Amino acid sequence: RFITIEGGEGAGKTTQIEALCRYLESQHLSVLRTREPGGSEGAEEIRRLIVEGASGRWDAETEALLVLAARRDHLRSLVWPALSNDSWVVCDRFSDSTYAYQGYGHGLSLKELDQLHAFTLGDFQPDLTLLIDLPVEDGLRRARARKGHEIRFESMDTAFHERVRQGFLERAQQNPARITILDGAQPAELVTRTMLRAVSDMFGL
Ligand code: C5P
Ligand code: MG
Repeated sequence: RFITIEGGEGAGKTTQIEALCRYLESQHLSVLRTREPGGSEGAEEIRRLIVEGASGRWDAETEALLVLAARRDHLRSLVWPALSNDSWVVCDRFSDSTYAYQGYGHGLSLKELDQLHAFTLGDFQPDLTLLIDLPVEDGLRRARARKGHEIRFESMDTAFHERVRQGFLERAQQNPARITILDGAQPAELVTRTMLRAVSDMFGL
């Protein structure tokens, strides 16, 4: 089973991923926790190019190609082998982030992103995606308060992050069977409870 967690800056993905992995392990499942961009050795190298690159170093097309190159390496060397071994894979960000950031955020064509995804992934997609939704201002406030946050993305203007948020919500509307929206403005324990109910309902745990 492949579960992805999505959301804008400061949504609280890390906290929820930790709770999800603890829960799955308590069900005696083998769990691989990973992230994108990155996850595998090669993809982490590519991540450094994306995330540590000066703002504006890459145009949106180049950035999308880097994200997808990283994804291909991550899937091939880590995710697909783990799934073949009956592990559950929990991934911090995946394709919906590419649509939200490079598509809705930076204005790339969604249809072209579909084509790039078909080339990179075939028809592979998550079994379940948990989208943590939060008003942009609240998320940015949390992200800025955190040590070592990634200035490059958090310094983009609020309108950019609004487009990203709307992009995630549209993806959820278009894929209601796969994507569950969680209200990230609620206290973390409540978000966790709702999340675990969605997971156990979906997979019959
Ligand atoms: O998941 P995390 O927030 O650590 O992601 C690192 C950074 O990469 C974030 O600031 C996010 O906005 C950015 N990102 C991006 N495009 C993607 C995936 C992540 O701009 N497709
Ligand atoms: Mg995080």
